[in-house]
Amino acid sequence: MRGDRDGAGAAGAALAGPRLLAGGPIAAEIRFGLTRDFAAFRERWGYPPTLAVVLVGADAPSAVYLRQILRTCEKVGVHGRLVEMSLDVTPDGLCEEIDMLNDDPGVSGIIVQMPLPAHIPLRTVIDSIDPAKDIDGIHPRNAGLLSLGFDGFLPATAQASVEILKRSGIEISGKRVVVIGRSNVVGKPAALLLMREHGTVTVLHSRTRDLANHTRDAEILIVAAGKPGLVTGEMLSPGVVVVDVGINVVGDKLVGDVDFESARGVVSAITPVPGGVGPLTNALLLSHLLRAATDQAELSPRRAVQSPDRGTTDAGIRMSAQPMPSSPKAAP
Ligand code: NAD
Repeated sequence: MRGDRDGAGAAGAALAGPRLLAGGPIAAEIRFGLTRDFAAFRERWGYPPTLAVVLVGADAPSAVYLRQILRTCEKVGVHGRLVEMSLDVTPDGLCEEIDMLNDDPGVSGIIVQMPLPAHIPLRTVIDSIDPAKDIDGIHPRNAGLLSLGFDGFLPATAQASVEILKRSGIEISGKRVVVIGRSNVVGKPAALLLMREHGTVTVLHSRTRDLANHTRDAEILIVAAGKPGLVTGEMLSPGVVVVDVGINVVGDKLVGDVDFESARGVVSAITPVPGGVGPLTNALLLSHLLRAATDQAELSPRRAVQSPDRGTTDAGIRMSAQPMPSSPKAAP
């Protein structure tokens, strides 16, 4: 298996421990390309693509994540639009808002921040997003395309957990790959993507008996359970490559699902938390936005430039547009 210490990058060598699979430099490289590509998009079509981020209620971890996405939008020259809805919005009210975004030609991509409050059925929301604007791959059409092995929009976090391996030169084909977590946004799509890369994939979940029995068999382990300290060093075989997708707030710190201290002496490579999968997720999401914007512009070239931006909407909904670098053509 690659991911050995000989292949370690600067960060790994300096630590004299496992190779650290940092997402930051990979994300920076992707953002560099995206900045150029979004500039070319604006030049060609006369407006910057807009990413609409829908937030229901002011959930603190979500707010942190959203701020990061909106900051990344600014960095690459994309218009980020935060659509805040009150916690007591009805399912119909939320779907109406999503419909307006679907119909707004200035909006190229939509993400709805999860988790949603209990009174909003997830199914209603995922069905209501236009699959062409569903850049985080939650609509059944995109999920179906992924499961059939066709091109669609991929859930960005799942894609990031695989992409960090590929871009770090870690071979997946033929490896015993174990995924902890089977959610629709991370574990399940990650498992499908890893099968696409010819890994031999086992999926573990909350009802799996004797987790360690499976994790010790892994040559590559992806952990996406949302349980800090779930995986410890004694559950791992020497030389395993670990991708820790978990993001948990413990006290005033962000930690993953893997107990880093006990794992570091066993693994050959591991993603840090923070600084592993997270930064890559945002960069990939914006690469999906570019694709969505380009597809929509090519399909209907004149529609998009006619869309005025909206600063505020009906009562109960606040919207704030992120500032764009000033450009005479920055229309919507
Ligand atoms: P989720 O709660 O929807 O799913 C968790 C999954 O883990 C479930 O399938 C469950 O069966 C499994 N699980 C829970 N406890 C387990 C246990 N004790 N043993 C085995 N399996 C167990 O969570 P999610 O949305 O898939 O997110 C997973 C983690 O990834 C969370 O920590 C979340 O914050 C993080 N996340 C990170 C990013 C990122 O960009 N890095 C993005 C999204 C989510």
